Amino acid sequence: MRLVCASANPDKVAEMAAILADCGVDLLPRPDSVGDVVEDADTLEGNARLKAMAIAEATGLAAVADDTGLEVDALDGAPGVRSARYAGDHATYEENVERLLAELAERGAITVDRRTARFRTVVLVRWPDGREVVVDGVCEGTITESPRGDGGFGYDPVFAPSEADGRTFAEMTAAEKHTISHRGRALRALAVALAPR
Ligand code: IMP
Repeated sequence: MRLVCASANPDKVAEMAAILADCGVDLLPRPDSVGDVVEDADTLEGNARLKAMAIAEATGLAAVADDTGLEVDALDGAPGVRSARYAGDHATYEENVERLLAELAERGAITVDRRTARFRTVVLVRWPDGREVVVDGVCEGTITESPRGDGGFGYDPVFAPSEADGRTFAEMTAAEKHTISHRGRALRALAVALAPR
């Protein structure tokens, strides 16, 4: 099966292509001709739908989009759907991480039990005729005191998944991350949902 990728983020495309290739799905690159999609929905699914619809309509092919949020319990689920723009509209990964650590410090969330969080990814495939498949994946963990590791992207340096050995996602290989990550789980769920019955 071939799906056009609605994401242009090279970090995410690399992860998606690697996981979907294992499941026999070919990921075609996002066409340059399609402009940026304004991600102004108030849910992850809504944003994924906006992105997939734009690509499916422009290409006439099935498109796959994902949207991810980091939900931190001590921050009542923030940054959530605003994860990309937590520190401002054009915030860098580093600025978002800095704000996250500052907000936790401000709330006195110092001990590990006050720093629980999860990544949630929604993946949505949309066909030009309006059919959809929607799946999600979750990875539980805690926010570390300070950033550690050079791998991954986004909040990876401050997210230590519960199922690992205390390392952050940024201290793992890409393959280790894919095995337990929110996006890995959502994409494997997608492969199951797309498999011929
Ligand atoms: P997006 O809407 O799926 O692009 O994700 C929103 C933001 O969440 C990104 O800008 C990253 O900061 C963060 N993010 C998404 N996926 C990951 C991940 O796998 N690790 C760390 N941060 C992520």
